[in-house]
Amino acid sequence: MPLVSMRQLLDEAAKGGYGVGAFNVNDMEQIQAIMMAARQTKSPVIVQASRGARAFAEDLYLFRLIQAAAELNPEIPIAMHQDHGNSFETCKSAIELGYTSVMMDGSLLEDGKTPSTFDQNVDVTRRVVDYAHERGVTVEGEIGVLGGIEDGHGAGGTGLEHVTDPDQAVEFAERTGVDALAIAIGTSHGAYKFNKKPDGSVLKMDILIAIHKRLPHTHLVMHGSSSVPKELQDIVNEYGGKLKPTWGVPVEEIQLGIRNGVRKINVDTDNRLAITGAIRKVFALTPEKFDPRDYLKPAREAMAKVVSERMTEFGQAGHAGDYKPIPITEMAKGYANGSLDPRPSLAAK
Ligand SMILES: [Zn+2]
Repeated sequence: MPLVSMRQLLDEAAKGGYGVGAFNVNDMEQIQAIMMAARQTKSPVIVQASRGARAFAEDLYLFRLIQAAAELNPEIPIAMHQDHGNSFETCKSAIELGYTSVMMDGSLLEDGKTPSTFDQNVDVTRRVVDYAHERGVTVEGEIGVLGGIEDGHGAGGTGLEHVTDPDQAVEFAERTGVDALAIAIGTSHGAYKFNKKPDGSVLKMDILIAIHKRLPHTHLVMHGSSSVPKELQDIVNEYGGKLKPTWGVPVEEIQLGIRNGVRKINVDTDNRLAITGAIRKVFALTPEKFDPRDYLKPAREAMAKVVSERMTEFGQAGHAGDYKPIPITEMAKGYANGSLDPRPSLAAK
């Protein structure tokens, strides 16, 4: 199956009332782990690469691996997404490579650290939308600023400094025409999200619900949404790791989000923990081993297990065969003739 547009994948998820995990990749084993889980659970899937991942793996290696994944798994719809594009040029280069979706994170300036103004965000996102839609490619924007830093990207802080304002979210969706919208509701990137199990004082699900009421046709995206389960932290620490106790976003909160318009859920930290725990275990228990396959294979399996659990929890499991991919060229026509207009303003009334 060719790579599919993320817009089609999310439209189908909205029809079916489920969410789709977007899993970050840097190398072959992570891509294989995601595909193992997708095959096992029969799930459509979003694979995403940050700027850091593209630099680490080199663009062409990474993209060819994704193409191989699509060729080897013709029954699985796969969208390839640029995570946190920091500029028009980053998004353009991903589209030129063949990515079927890009995130323009205009909530920060190009340095990936400094919060931008609302108008700066609208301007750069609108430019990316015009360029991408002409080519049938999906665009995710962000309004409000997430907490934490990952891969050198992020404003830092707790995630509560720049929570999304629902009025601004409506204006942003109308002025930019984005297909999907990442919102800030108190979540952070990285392992250290909350210092206790989050409640409504730090995880603003009420804001998410308010935004969905006003923008029912815009697919919402939850970033920083690893659950950081204690079992995964424990394995890392049992075999020599030094993670401080931390809490992520509980799966039941994500499921509440899915019932309220969340269609894409970004998960990275949980997979990192699973991989690191598995490798540490091999090193600690069998220090005589030195063949990389001896620890990369269990690492890959540990990640596949986490991904497959998330696919089941998010509801995407079993939906791989629901639809045929619409070619990107057809998506471009749909954007041009208005049939793919996200119609946010309809909702505002
Ligand atoms: Zn993010």
